[in-house]
Amino acid sequence: MATNRYDAIVVGARCAGSPTAMLLARRGYKVLVVDRATFPSDTLSTHILHPPAVESLQRWGLLDRLTSTGCPPIDTYSFDFGPFALSGKPGTEAAPLAYCPRRTVLDKLLVDAASEDGAEVREGFTVQEIVVEDGRVVGIRGRGSDGATVTERADVVVAADGRSSVVAKAVRPEQYNERPELLAAYYTYWSGLPMDGRYEVYIRPGHGFAAVPTHDDLTLVIAGWAYEEHQARKHDVEASYFEMVDLVPEFADRMRGAEREARFAGTAVRGYFRRPYGPGWALVGDAGYNRDFITAQGISDAFRDAELCATALDEALSGARPYDESMAGYHATRDEQVLPMYELTCQLATLEPPPPEVQALLAAAHGNQEAMDAFARVNAGVTSPTEFFAEENAQRILAGSRS
Ligand SMILES: Cc1cc2nc3c(=O)[nH]c(=O)nc-3n(C[C@H](O)[C@H](O)[C@H](O)COP(=O)(O)OP(=O)(O)OC[C@H]3O[C@@H](n4cnc5c(N)ncnc54)[C@H](O)[C@@H]3O)c2cc1C
Repeated sequence: MATNRYDAIVVGARCAGSPTAMLLARRGYKVLVVDRATFPSDTLSTHILHPPAVESLQRWGLLDRLTSTGCPPIDTYSFDFGPFALSGKPGTEAAPLAYCPRRTVLDKLLVDAASEDGAEVREGFTVQEIVVEDGRVVGIRGRGSDGATVTERADVVVAADGRSSVVAKAVRPEQYNERPELLAAYYTYWSGLPMDGRYEVYIRPGHGFAAVPTHDDLTLVIAGWAYEEHQARKHDVEASYFEMVDLVPEFADRMRGAEREARFAGTAVRGYFRRPYGPGWALVGDAGYNRDFITAQGISDAFRDAELCATALDEALSGARPYDESMAGYHATRDEQVLPMYELTCQLATLEPPPPEVQALLAAAHGNQEAMDAFARVNAGVTSPTEFFAEENAQRILAGSRS
């Protein structure tokens, strides 16, 4: 590969970008990471960090930094389907806990880690153009916080710039497995609504909400509805939000003494996979793959992409493997790992009752702690849905409920 000023330029410095930059910098590469945002800053996203993402932080030596911010641990996930609820432990022995850190805290921590490990971080830098020469991406052009337009060159430009990626727009990767918006949801933060280490999800036909504890003794409550209702509901989000919560009177009672501490924020998103590499470019995080947020997988996926992509780029940049071969490996591994969860996520996001055999399986799991823990681990992205819904496992759970 040609020698450029940087080995890698990463566009976007949140969950996908900063870890990618950090991991490349740790391997000795000269890395520039830019973001039009400055940090700390918030972004449109809730922020459940399932145990696999927590494990990534631990592996990177960053978990203590997160826990020292006073972020409350979460040890139980509960899914209330109306007639019954499944309540279980989402983690493993190695990573038993989930967290729900504010993005102001998490993203800042990641940016700082990238910088400390040697990546050059430029905040307030907007990428306006991708520089392409002879069909190959060779750099970026953009404006820094001083207003000056600059061009920077690198062997590879990594897009970690989210769903509206400017890099993806420029390189036009193949897009597949596309899904339309399936639900819309809005969230805000409440004081005086203790959760006692629990992430609670309430699902009713076409509707649902979830509550989870976060920093500063606040609880995040997100409420959503099937996308076909969105036209009618979006004009009065607040009324719709409370309508969802009122579907569960016991929860609505718990909220009565609570204070709302922020404005409502929310959206609906499309699902897609994008081919995550090409000549001189790579995609990580939402820039490369997006799924509805109902299963809260985005940050875990961004962390996994960062590790897979940084490893593949290391192989290519060091000359250990041809670029196309190592990046094809990244592509195949990503798709293989996320596809079963993508299908489950799309199914859940319709907010339609699951097929009768799945309903029977979930009803049978009720009261069977081992099965409820397994279901919590599926939602946490610890156990593949393929494993949980496999015929043999389903038969075991069904037989257990009959004995
Ligand atoms: C409503 C909602 C709720 C969600 N809840 C959860 C959840 O509970 N748990 C979970 O794991 N995931 C959740 N997600 C998904 C999660 O937010 C994303 O998957 C995650 O943020 C992806 O990280 P990223 O780094 O790829 O992109 P982003 O977090 O979108 O970061 C992209 C960065 O790129 C920068 N950027 C963009 N364009 C440019 C440019 N031209 N120049 C410079 N910088 C640029 C942006 O400023 C931004 O900082 C949710 C998403 C939504 C929408």
